Amino acid sequence: NAKKSGKSKYMHYDPSMSNALENDHLLISHIKNAYENKEFTLHYQPQINAHTDEIIGFEALIRWYSKDFGYIPPDRVIPLAESTGLIIPIGLCIIEQSIQFALEMKKKFSSNFKVSINISVVQLLESNFEDELFERLERYHLDPRYIQLEITESVLIETSGTMIVKLNSIRDKGISISLDDFGTGFSSLTYLQKLPINEIKIDKSFIDEMLTDSKPAKLVDTILYLAKELNLNVIAEGVETKEQQDYLLDHGCSIMQGYYNSKPLPIEEVILFCEKRIH
Ligand code: C2E
Ligand code: MG
Ligand code: MG
Ligand code: MG
Repeated sequence: NAKKSGKSKYMHYDPSMSNALENDHLLISHIKNAYENKEFTLHYQPQINAHTDEIIGFEALIRWYSKDFGYIPPDRVIPLAESTGLIIPIGLCIIEQSIQFALEMKKKFSSNFKVSINISVVQLLESNFEDELFERLERYHLDPRYIQLEITESVLIETSGTMIVKLNSIRDKGISISLDDFGTGFSSLTYLQKLPINEIKIDKSFIDEMLTDSKPAKLVDTILYLAKELNLNVIAEGVETKEQQDYLLDHGCSIMQGYYNSKPLPIEEVILFCEKRIH
């Protein structure tokens, strides 16, 4: 359906272009050019402690406004980048941009926050992923505690144990690890036991339905209980209304990410957002 929303938005443009959106090969060649022409940018979505009203972090989200096709959503870009291997150089670019963003925010606001970077399993499977990451943190002199990696359960398709060793070495550096889209996919409790994670992100699908359906509401409560017992941070994703935020606060979840507080914003706007909240 990501495909559909991308298409319906830009259909009016020129029918041949929306066909292109459906055409993997054509889009792949454009992604390659887009990378070379530095057309990818990041938007940053604030993460808020609704209990204290503090901004505690930002999730970096890739944005591609193609000159030819208009906005192409990440759900379309990332899988194609993964299937071609382009995710490796693009992913490193995303890491560098995120580090530079963290440095800028640190200079401007000098508070405690983390920049969360989505990492594809294809990136993690690269043998030198962590070296490339550490090298960049050193090059830019950024304290690793400003960075968090968001991974999904799919990292455990790699069962050999090397993935866990790798994630451990990343965490030992002081980088946090968040388990994204928690509750979707194959959600086995084994993951919580095996993966060296600091945080779980309750998937938006639960937040969407928790006020209208008792099952997702109970699942949210259970996830919150689990997080508490396991000493993990927990964040709710896709919080769109005050009612949802109030419910979560009532049920012991203080950290929110979603349109209710802010959409993902380009860097200048995220700075304005912070200035308004802080002053
Ligand atoms: P995700 O990591 O689960 O990111 C959260 C998605 O939910 C983002 O969509 C964000 O814009 C959206 N969102 C946040 N709050 C709300 C809300 O209140 N309402 C609604 N309707 N949506 C909300 P986005 O930016 O389209 O990204 C989609 C997915 O693409 C991400 O899901 C992530 O899996 C992937 N992605 C995005 N950027 C990157 C990246 O730089 N690298 C990698 N590997 N994947 C990325
Ligand atoms: Mg994420
Ligand atoms: Mg998510
Ligand atoms: Mg998601």
